Amino acid sequence: MSAGGQPVRMLICEDDPAIRRFLRTSLTAQGYHVAEAERGEGAIEAVEHGPVDALVLDLGLPDIDGIEVIRRLRGEGKLVPIIVLTSRADEKGKVAALDLGADDYVTKPFGIDELLARIRAALRHGLQERGEAPVFKSGDLRVDIVRRLVSVRGQEVKLSPREYDLLRLLVAHAGKVLTHKFLLRELWGGESDVAYLRMYIRSLRQKIEADPERPQHIQTETGVGYRLRMID
Ligand code: CA
Repeated sequence: MSAGGQPVRMLICEDDPAIRRFLRTSLTAQGYHVAEAERGEGAIEAVEHGPVDALVLDLGLPDIDGIEVIRRLRGEGKLVPIIVLTSRADEKGKVAALDLGADDYVTKPFGIDELLARIRAALRHGLQERGEAPVFKSGDLRVDIVRRLVSVRGQEVKLSPREYDLLRLLVAHAGKVLTHKFLLRELWGGESDVAYLRMYIRSLRQKIEADPERPQHIQTETGVGYRLRMID
């Protein structure tokens, strides 16, 4: 999703602590990285200091309202996908939000599946704007970046969040050699050693390679790092 292939970074701007907690829990369970803001000014600041891949924005906030947040972000040329949370009574607010460039909306009370679907659609738009294909294919490997689904020979493969993050990073730089240092820094902030990385490469290969002893996808660049091959 992001240029570096890191997990999707969601920002939630909502003043109701119960809804915020619900959103944080649900989105984290989906593998998103979640940051929170209680106020509109805080959300604008977080986007400015970014990176934020998508913003879930309540319209009724204690300081400036969500409409003003959208107006200011779009005014600054920020293209971050925005999904607005509206109340049933606030039809005008919803329309105003969309007019100002919000990507989508859900009406409270909403189901999490509905919100997740809207988020995925908004991220897809965001990707198209930035030119990265939402689905990566190489040989028998297929990675749906928006849905976080990985399949091999048409069969879905279950990856742990760490394994997915590693694969996602390799996909973001497919064809390129990524050094141990780069991978460790991007995945773990550089605080882990190469043995840890090797362990994840091994478990990822077990899941995506037809023969993990003779990997076709993830190649070892001895003493340097790894490369995800591009296979036609
Ligand atoms: Ca509110």
